[in-house]
Amino acid sequence: MNVATTKKVHNYSAGPCILPQEVFQQAAQAILDFEGSGLSILEMSHRSKPFEAVMAKAQGLVKELLGAPEHYQVVFLGGGASLGFHMVPLNYMKVGGKSAYVNTGEWATRAIKESKLVGDTQVLASSEDKNFSYIPKGFQVPADVDYFHFTSNNTIFGTQYKQFPKSAAPLICDMSSDIFSRPVNVSDFALIYGGAQKNMGPAGATVYLFDPERLGHTGRKLSPMLDLKNHGSKESMYNTPPVYAVYVSMLTLEWIKKMGGVQAMERRNAEKAALLYNAIDRLPLFNGTAAVEDRSVMNATFVLNDAALEPAFDALWKEAGISGIRGHRSVGGYRASMYNALPIESVQVLVDVMEHFAQKNA
Ligand SMILES: *Cc1c(COP(=O)(O)O)cnc(C)c1O
Repeated sequence: MNVATTKKVHNYSAGPCILPQEVFQQAAQAILDFEGSGLSILEMSHRSKPFEAVMAKAQGLVKELLGAPEHYQVVFLGGGASLGFHMVPLNYMKVGGKSAYVNTGEWATRAIKESKLVGDTQVLASSEDKNFSYIPKGFQVPADVDYFHFTSNNTIFGTQYKQFPKSAAPLICDMSSDIFSRPVNVSDFALIYGGAQKNMGPAGATVYLFDPERLGHTGRKLSPMLDLKNHGSKESMYNTPPVYAVYVSMLTLEWIKKMGGVQAMERRNAEKAALLYNAIDRLPLFNGTAAVEDRSVMNATFVLNDAALEPAFDALWKEAGISGIRGHRSVGGYRASMYNALPIESVQVLVDVMEHFAQKNA
């Protein structure tokens, strides 16, 4: 079923973002009548059998799609990846211990700030000198830190790790904006976490996928709400989980599986990114802002060489039904977010607009 092409709006929003059309239909139906129960999913106990099945399925799909080891655990919490920035040092940095980070942009900067609140935090490398337009390479992760944290995809600046850094220390990654966009070797990571709203579902849930054996060694007493080990052992039901966000995430994960899993997503995403970056490079009117080798497959950032042309370009893409491609204020220009659910047809529409605009302004 190709429902995507029936969409009239080509949604490039950076997050919350496009989800599959069929997910919206199922999600809407579940609000009216969840699986024929006569109840809305919004009025059911999170302890009810049907919702427990939703949670188990969502957790199982996270592990299955990413090929996680059997003993890894999955929890869905509120608070966004931003709360994760604080939970990471609380749960992984020993009292009197150390952490290490790489600074690749706004979200990494915030993660570092939260770690500094908890303890000794080393910033091994940063790309701030060039407005975060590249991924620093060649740094060494010291073996004596309690963990090493990085941000796999920099949503705002349009850069992405093509190869993950090597680390003798436990590896922790904020994958908010490229989780489920490509295969990853989960057993390399102590923790992968991310806000759902960029590639997995709606806002309101944050996914944590972790090795429980790595938890509980800091010597720090934690509030149960901030304790990942607690949430893991309580099956993500220590308190009321964000039920609807978990449900819609589950539907999206089912869609990914049906489409062929993260391998298929990787192929689709590579095709979309190639189509757009090719236009950016081919048309002299446009310039990509990220270093070519570090370009994100998810968020393509670019500018018009002559900013005076922006109003005319804006009018053209709006007329074509394109939405959400204005760049983040810290980069300017444009950002086309091409998450899993964005069909290649939408990218073709944008490329056609760019070509048409280039011809008119040649
Ligand atoms: C959006 C984003 C965040 C912040 O997520 P919230 O869920 O809004 O807290 C963190 N990291 C990355 C990479 C992001 O793209």
